Amino acid sequence: MGAAQQPTYPDASALDLAVDRLRTSPPLVFAGECDDLKSKIADVVRGEAFILQGGDCAETFAGVTADNVRNKLRVLLQMAVVLTYAGSVPVVKLGRIAGQYAKPRSSDFETRDGVTLPAYRGDAVNGYDFTEASRIPDPQRLVDVYNNSAATLNLVRAFTTGGYADLRQVHTWNTDFVRSSPAGRRYEKMAAEIEKALEFMTAIGADPKEFHGVDFYNSHEALVLEYEHALTRIDSRTNAPYDVSAHMVWIGERTRQLSGAHVELLSHIQNPIGVKLGPTTSPDDALALAAKLNPANEAGRLTFITRFGAGKIREGLPPLLEKAKAEGLNVAWICDPMHGNTFEATSGYKTRSFDDVIDEVQGFFDAHRSVGTWPGGLHVELTGDDVTECVGGGEMLSDEDLNQRYESVCDPRLNRVQSLEMAFLVADMLAA
Ligand code: PEP
Ligand code: MN
Repeated sequence: MGAAQQPTYPDASALDLAVDRLRTSPPLVFAGECDDLKSKIADVVRGEAFILQGGDCAETFAGVTADNVRNKLRVLLQMAVVLTYAGSVPVVKLGRIAGQYAKPRSSDFETRDGVTLPAYRGDAVNGYDFTEASRIPDPQRLVDVYNNSAATLNLVRAFTTGGYADLRQVHTWNTDFVRSSPAGRRYEKMAAEIEKALEFMTAIGADPKEFHGVDFYNSHEALVLEYEHALTRIDSRTNAPYDVSAHMVWIGERTRQLSGAHVELLSHIQNPIGVKLGPTTSPDDALALAAKLNPANEAGRLTFITRFGAGKIREGLPPLLEKAKAEGLNVAWICDPMHGNTFEATSGYKTRSFDDVIDEVQGFFDAHRSVGTWPGGLHVELTGDDVTECVGGGEMLSDEDLNQRYESVCDPRLNRVQSLEMAFLVADMLAA
């Protein structure tokens, strides 16, 4: 089977040059860090930790600014504190960041005002501008992905270890949200409880290093095979191949064919990996993927990211969970409540309703609780900025509001307030 969703480059020699460049570039992440993440995900498999994976649908090169990266990190850290407190379990913090530049598309073409051009496939492949020239795949962009990912990771590492992620600081942002926004006021009680817990720690003189920094990992969809291959290296400690473009990579709903090139690639790397599972997935499909991608049944190696849609999860997910449980599959289950809930608003914008998103997460928790498996985490498209892309939430964004600040070049993201609200709502589900 050929590889799905790959760009067709007009100039093969330019592709060779880009790939050569990538092959000799230093790793973006270390294999040992990938192993650390794997062991944290193994805790999730055992029901002893929760994953928060989030970021843009599609990062853009123009979006690599200190403000943008900081805002995204800030909202993820804020959410993680709330979830950690409510769930009384460690939260594994995993950005959809520093590499999320390639997009699978349902259609190869896009038509606007009667003009049809090749679809935008992410900054990794072509340009968003709706012109013929910009939509031609350019392999130099793969080198740009590497450089922008390096710059982003550098910032992420500085922010998460250099004092910015201090627990008291993150809690102060949460109390600001609770006090200053009508949407936040409903969560005053939990914020006050966290405050109390922190005061207690201070009173007894506890000041562990975990108060001052966090472990943060990055991930993206492994889509453009040339890029992922060029960044796959043999680790000198273990003699095994790792994709050093990110700590974790996943494959999407459109590229998870058992005999496809993406499954093949992921089967050979040692990183923790994910697979998106949509509503057409049968229990046997899931088992076959696990057999191929995690033959040793190693805990932490494989995460299934379900994205059924709010209307389908309660019926669709339990059979998968039951089969996996009966077979003793070691897998982390996390909920992507975004991709099964996309629709076109009457204004023409692609959007999602906050209520549907929360309803899918609730359905995910219900399904796991009924089967006796662990609802292991969340996979969310979000941003730290005050965009208007998803409708609903405490700010009650409506269809008419979408044009105010719709900035995503692909799918609609939860904005800062919607993301924080989600954390408080999911916190209640975790604590229940
Ligand atoms: C995505 O995560 O942006 C995506 C395209 O998801 P899926 O593969 O689940 O459709
Ligand atoms: Mn998306």
